[in-house]
Amino acid sequence: MRIDIISVLPELLEGFINHSIVKRACDKKVAEIHLHSLRDYGKGNYMKIDDYAFGGGAGMVMMIEPIYNLINALKAERNYEEIIYTSPDGERFTQGEANRLSMLSSIIILCGHYKGVDHRVRQHLITKEISIGDYVLSGGELAAAIITDSVTRVLPGAISDETSALSDSFQDGLLSPPVYTRPPEFNGWTVPEVLISGNHKAIEQWNDEQSYERTSRLRPDLLQ
Ligand code: SAH
Repeated sequence: MRIDIISVLPELLEGFINHSIVKRACDKKVAEIHLHSLRDYGKGNYMKIDDYAFGGGAGMVMMIEPIYNLINALKAERNYEEIIYTSPDGERFTQGEANRLSMLSSIIILCGHYKGVDHRVRQHLITKEISIGDYVLSGGELAAAIITDSVTRVLPGAISDETSALSDSFQDGLLSPPVYTRPPEFNGWTVPEVLISGNHKAIEQWNDEQSYERTSRLRPDLLQ
């Protein structure tokens, strides 16, 4: 899968794509992530990408032309199934959406900045708007990182133990059971007996019960 991220601050994402599961997925050619600096498509000597809002008001607005030119340059190379704009008023991002996006072959993620983009970008160039939660960030880079991370980790081959991503919270509509590792006792604090019993059937049943108990207590909305 290929993800193209458009940003005025691509440096913010460089560390992120060069570490952990995202990097491993790229090394294994399971994912391909390309960062694009919007400023390269800016106008004039100053590579301008923003301007004052029509009608006044504080804050700059990202201009349509550089975004249009960059998106068109990408679209001339390949077909994109989604062109996403990260926005606090977009559709709330979920695991279901991460799974859906992971089945596409190429997507673009446009990160906003300042007051956001000229609304015509959203009307004519964008196919999907995603919010990562009800709060406002200063830029879309963190949202793009969240989308990219959650999509990449469910790509087959990204995680060595493939069942691991599928047993995470939300995948089956339930939260994960608690996990423990060695030592079996620390400071007098013990691990649930069943987990060190070696009885796989009992362990599976305990995990299921814990998932259900935690979900009904912490996130009853998921059971509805
Ligand atoms: N004026 C806008 C907020 C702009 S914040 C408004 O009130 O809706 C600057 C940029 O950060 C946005 O264009 C968007 O790309 C990104 N951003 C901020 N909060 C976000 C969120 N919750 N989810 C996704 N992207 C967000």
